[in-house]
Amino acid sequence: MSVLVEQLTKKYDHQTAVDTISFEAQPGKIVGFLGPNGAGKSTTMKMLTGYIPPSSGSASVCGFNIVSQSLDVRKQIGYLPEHNPLYLEMYVKESLAFSADLHKIQNINKRIAEVIELTGLGREQHKKISQLSKGYRQRVGLAQAILHDPKVLILDEPTSGLDPNQLVEIRSLIKEIGREKTVILSTHIMQEVEAICDRVIIINKGKIVANDDTSNLKMLT
Ligand code: ADP
Ligand code: ADP
Repeated sequence: MSVLVEQLTKKYDHQTAVDTISFEAQPGKIVGFLGPNGAGKSTTMKMLTGYIPPSSGSASVCGFNIVSQSLDVRKQIGYLPEHNPLYLEMYVKESLAFSADLHKIQNINKRIAEVIELTGLGREQHKKISQLSKGYRQRVGLAQAILHDPKVLILDEPTSGLDPNQLVEIRSLIKEIGREKTVILSTHIMQEVEAICDRVIIINKGKIVANDDTSNLKMLT
């Protein structure tokens, strides 16, 4: 099991954002984390990536505990936050080199060329981020997330704000780059789950209310 979550809980001052959730995610599968705004999706993802500590419960990524082994966990995870910060004045290659440096990747130029190819950024690689459409900026975000060849991809609302054409392209790219990885993707759009997810976990008000194969989704709704 590459992601194992047990009774994970996050309490903020006035509310429980994530409430004793348990689930698992397997290699080669895309798990859709579906729920309305405020359901607890981002909070869950930020806990899995070690960004914020849980209040109680536990989780592991590739066998590493998210709290006590957070550095190991980060090596296994590629994370695309909902509002991925990109420096608009940087060139595509520069921003990938910047991320590669953070991950201390060897043979940086070779790896950057590989991820540019994988994410279809060939024609944009010499452009500035500010010159790219939202869809291409999202490709840069995905390229950054896979640079260190993580086993697990955590994608927070990766298609939000994209136009219909970009949406189709980014979804198929996620399927492609996620093929041998474990992917957890959050969304508030049912069609997104139907389009690319093998499994769906429905979260509402911090609680998991359904967890099933996507093929059974129609029966759940
Ligand atoms: P989602 O990603 O599903 O939209 P979030 O995980 O962002 O949901 O938020 C879950 C709930 O927790 C929301 O009610 C949100 O306002 C609250 N929340 C998120 N982050 C914080 C924070 N840092 N402090 C207090 N409340 C927060
Ligand atoms: P994201 O969607 O990437 O989680 P948001 O715009 O929802 O980012 O939130 C920005 C920051 O504010 C995050 O650190 C989040 O945890 C925090 N936050 C979100 N909701 C609340 C809230 N109700 N009270 C306090 N902080 C919040």
